[in-house]
Amino acid sequence: MTSDPPRIAIIGGGISGLAAAYHLANLPEPPAITVLEQGDRLGGVLQTESHDGFLLELGPDSMLARMPWGVDLCREIGLSEQLVSTSKDQQGVHVVSRGQLQRVPEGLAIMAPQRIWPFITTPTLSWPAKLRLGAERLIPSRTAEGDESLAAFCRRRLGRETFERLVQPLAGGIYMGDPEQLSIRSTFPQFVDMETNHGSLTRAARAAAAQQQEKSSHSGGPEYSMFVAPARGAAQLIETLAQQLTGCQLRCQQQVKSLTAAEASGWTVEVLDQGTGICNTEHYDGVLVATPAFRAGALLDAVDTDLARQLERIPYAGCTVVNLAYPREAIAHPLDSFGFVVPHIEQRKILACTFSSVKYAGRAPEGTVLLRAFLGGACYPEVMDWTDEQVVATAREELGSLLGIAQPPQFTRITRWRRSMPQYHLGHQELVQSIEQRVAELPGLELAGNAYQGVGIPHCIRVGQQAATRLATALQPAASQAS
Ligand SMILES: Cc1cc2nc3c(=O)[nH]c(=O)nc-3n(C[C@H](O)[C@H](O)[C@H](O)COP(=O)(O)OP(=O)(O)OC[C@H]3O[C@@H](n4cnc5c(N)ncnc54)[C@H](O)[C@@H]3O)c2cc1C
Repeated sequence: MTSDPPRIAIIGGGISGLAAAYHLANLPEPPAITVLEQGDRLGGVLQTESHDGFLLELGPDSMLARMPWGVDLCREIGLSEQLVSTSKDQQGVHVVSRGQLQRVPEGLAIMAPQRIWPFITTPTLSWPAKLRLGAERLIPSRTAEGDESLAAFCRRRLGRETFERLVQPLAGGIYMGDPEQLSIRSTFPQFVDMETNHGSLTRAARAAAAQQQEKSSHSGGPEYSMFVAPARGAAQLIETLAQQLTGCQLRCQQQVKSLTAAEASGWTVEVLDQGTGICNTEHYDGVLVATPAFRAGALLDAVDTDLARQLERIPYAGCTVVNLAYPREAIAHPLDSFGFVVPHIEQRKILACTFSSVKYAGRAPEGTVLLRAFLGGACYPEVMDWTDEQVVATAREELGSLLGIAQPPQFTRITRWRRSMPQYHLGHQELVQSIEQRVAELPGLELAGNAYQGVGIPHCIRVGQQAATRLATALQPAASQAS
C-alpha cells in the first residue's frame, strides 16, 4: 500500500519560492506542492513588460554568472540557450565625479583593484587618494574580532576618498543601503576572506585575476559574461519555471494571513482569496515561507513571538525604478558603458542609471535608447513618497545634465519597490543564526528568501533549494536521501 505524498505549502511565489517548488517537484518522490502568492502574478520583483518594441525590466535585469545557482537552474529548465551575455561592444560603468561622468577604473572588482595603471590615470581620485590606495598592501590586517561596517572596512583598507568616490556607490548600490550600517561580513564576505588570507585586497585581487586568466587560457574563455539575462527579460525565467511546475498548484491572489501548528501534526494555513474575499483554512504537512522577513514575522507571530520579533528586526529599504525611452539622437553622451553610479558625496538625487539597451541587445528598437534610473534606497527613504511627476522630473533633470539630454522621453514607466531590499546590518549573521536555530525547533517549517544569506537572484535560488531539501528530508526522509 502506498501512502499519499506529504502536502507542502510554499508561501510567496517570487524566485525563492519557485526555485524551492522546482526542487521539490523534481525529487524522486515529490510531495504535493501548493504555491500561494498574494499578487496577481508569479515572480515577486522579477517583472518584465513590453511597450512599443521596448523590453522594460521593472525589477532586476541581470544574474551574476559566477554564482552558479542561477545559470544552473536555467540549464535545468531548458533556458540556457535563451541566456544572453552583456554587450561585447561596451564594457564597464561610469561614476559621477565632480559633476562629470568618468569611467570607473578598469579592473576594480567592487573594492579590490586588480590593476594599478587605471587607478594612476583616473581623474576620479586625487593624488593623495591614489597614494593611499597604493599603500593598501602595507595596511595590517584587522585583529579585532566581531563585525565591521562596509564603510569602516573600506576606509581602513583603501582610504576615505576611494571609499566615498568609488566603493560607496558600487557596493552600497547593490544593497541600496547605508554602508555605515551594512555589515561587511554579511554583504561582501569575500573581501574579509581576501584580507584574512592575503593580508591585502590588492594582492588577493591580482592573484585571483592571474588565476582566472590561467583558467581562461586553458578553457578557451568563460561561457558567459559576468552578468547574464534571459533574452526576453527576467520574467522569462519565471514563465519557464512555472511551465515546468505543471504538477504543482500555482495559486495567485492568495494571501496567507496566518500560520498555526496543527493539533496533531503539520500546519494550519489561513488563506484569503483576494478575488472572492473569502478566507479558508488549509492543512499542510510542511510549510516553506518565502516572503520578505517582516511578512514571515507577521505570519509566525502566533507560533513563536520571539522568532517573529527577530524576523521583523531585519530592516528593508525601498527604491524607485524609472524606465525612460529616448530617440538615440536626443542623447549627447556616447553611452559607451553599461551605465553609471552616483556617490552620495555628489549630492545628486539619483543613485544610478543603467543604459539598458546598451547593456543587452534587443531591449529597444533600432535608433532608440532605453535608460533605467534608480532613486531612493536606505539613505533617501523620502523618495518613496514622491509623486510620479516629482520622480519623472528628477530623473529627467539628472539624466539631462549628466548625459546631455534636452528633449522629453518618448515614454516613462515608474515602479516603486517598497520595503523590497533587506539590509544586512551589523550583527546580521548572528541574527540569522538565531532565527535559523528557532526555525529548526519547529518541525515542518522552513524559511527562504533574500533576507538571510544573499540578495542576488542566484543566492535566492540556492537558499530556496536548500530550504526545500531540508523540508523534504524532514517530511520524507527516504525520498530526499535518494536525490
Ligand atoms: C529594483 C531591484 C533590482 C534588483 N536587481 C537585481 C539584479 O539585477 N540582479 C540580482 O541578482 N538581484 C537583483 N535584485 C535582488 C533580487 O531581485 C531579489 O533579492 C530577489 O528577486 C528576491 O526574491 P524573493 O523570492 O526572495 O522575494 P520577492 O521577489 O519579494 O518575492 C516574495 C513574494 O512573496 C509574496 N508574499 C509576501 N507576503 C505574502 C503572503 N502573506 N501571502 C502570499 N504571498 C506573499 C510577494 O507578493 C512576493 O511575490 C534586485 C531587487 C530589486 C528590488
